[in-house]
Amino acid sequence: MSDCLFCNIAAGKIPSKKVYEDELCYAFYDIAPQAPVHFLVIPKAHLASVSEVTEENGAAVGHIFAVIARLAKEMGLESYRVVSNIGEQAGQSVPHLHFHVLSGRDMTWPPG
Ligand code: AMP
Repeated sequence: MSDCLFCNIAAGKIPSKKVYEDELCYAFYDIAPQAPVHFLVIPKAHLASVSEVTEENGAAVGHIFAVIARLAKEMGLESYRVVSNIGEQAGQSVPHLHFHVLSGRDMTWPPG
């Protein structure tokens, strides 16, 4: 989607601090980190959020989780949290599916 921030980041039209990229997904550091390590992993194909994932388009999500596991191992992250906010009340501010990967500090539960 031409007016989508994260589509434009994945396409290299808006600069970002890249962590990883392949044909299905793009990972980059969050511009406002909430932990010592905070990056986002997004599918290149636009989906607004988890609420649009289906059996037909969900392969990218499984792939993204395999990428997250691999990146976490490569970064030496022993403990981390993966978060996806769906909808404004849950805190979603960018309507392109993304998974936050947060690590490097103590975390509380439940999240606020
Ligand atoms: P959410 O609020 O769950 O939708 O997450 C969106 C995240 O995107 C927030 O943590 C923002 O800090 C982050 N963000 C917004 N714009 C950018 C950008 N240009 N580069 C990197 N991260 C961004």
